[in-house]
Amino acid sequence: MKIIVTGGAGFIGSAVVRHIINNTQDRVINVDKLTYAGNLESLVSVDKNERYVFEQVDICDRAELDRVFAQHQPDAVMHLAAESHVDRSITGPSDFIQTNIVGTYTLLEATRAYWNELSAQAKKAFRFHHISTDEVYGDLPHPDDIEDGTEPSANKELPLFTETTSYAPSSPYSASKASSDHLVRAWLRTYGLPTIVTNCSNNYGPYHFPEKLIPLVILNALDGKSLPIYGKGDQIRDWLYVEDHARALYKVVTTGKVGETYNIGGHNEKQNLEVVKTICSILDVLVPKGTLYAEQIVYVTDRPGHDRRYAIDSTKMSQELNWQPEETFETGLRKTIEWYLTNQEWCQHVQDGTYQRERLGI
Ligand code: NAD
Repeated sequence: MKIIVTGGAGFIGSAVVRHIINNTQDRVINVDKLTYAGNLESLVSVDKNERYVFEQVDICDRAELDRVFAQHQPDAVMHLAAESHVDRSITGPSDFIQTNIVGTYTLLEATRAYWNELSAQAKKAFRFHHISTDEVYGDLPHPDDIEDGTEPSANKELPLFTETTSYAPSSPYSASKASSDHLVRAWLRTYGLPTIVTNCSNNYGPYHFPEKLIPLVILNALDGKSLPIYGKGDQIRDWLYVEDHARALYKVVTTGKVGETYNIGGHNEKQNLEVVKTICSILDVLVPKGTLYAEQIVYVTDRPGHDRRYAIDSTKMSQELNWQPEETFETGLRKTIEWYLTNQEWCQHVQDGTYQRERLGI
């Protein structure tokens, strides 16, 4: 297959590109604008491969997209290009509306124009795979908020996001992703474009831009800076190792059913404070210093509209596509910390001139 991967220089996109080049015979056309979040250094292990091509293109640029489709004649599109950080969407929603909504619309239209001209067989085999987030569903009940007479944080049966959960996004980011999901499904229903949507929980792993919780905490800890906890730090996320996500996405684009939605999650519900304390205790062993890293924790004002809990039911992925995460949170987190310890240069380069781990979105 020839696969266009949009956003292939980002965190998850680069894991998808590395997965395809290293584990399959497919070709990849990486279409990326290279915003602050895109970094070609994340692809040095594959960029000399003759099955890999990079196109620096904005997905809002219809003429350039038409050229890319005509030149490369893809069999599938995996659409990951997006503005992805909730805090940035609070400070400035405009880029989120532009890339996530207008960009997805422009990409859908460029894909449809190309797809319309394919043979009947190629049209049927073509896939447009839209990669989205579980944040479109809003938030779920938190164990501490349920007044059933039991202790807060007691083990309680709580609901999970399924593929039929109603959309209720809370932030400009998640609202823009929800909007793009609706566009993708409408292009299938109205024009017959063979689309599939996946909604995934929080990813973590190597090459994660250090504005997100896990890399930010690792790097701040090593630099002796404070480790900011939003509110009480009791927000729950369901963590998935990024390479497990990349494997899942490749399964979906190659074996998923047109018109379906697949939820992808890690079965790893953790409170943010617990995640930060676990990072600190791993660093205490790997990079010991006179004091404990957890002493750098500080509590800061919570994010406006902060969702309390996300958790994914990924039964459909395991039963229909035979996918399971391979990493536990413990193994994945250790690998991630070790990666950051040995890749300080990457960390320095991606932050140069763009971002110094300051707080956004207050
Ligand atoms: P990221 O911010 O690390 O990377 C986004 C990439 O898109 C960057 O390389 C950037 O240069 C590129 N890009 C941005 N605007 C563009 C434009 N107009 N044209 C072309 N390229 C553009 O994001 P990520 O964490 O890798 O997320 C990838 C996708 O997965 C996003 O759609 C996101 O919503 C979704 N997702 C992310 C998570 C997560 O935990 N990170 C979880 C579930 C779903």
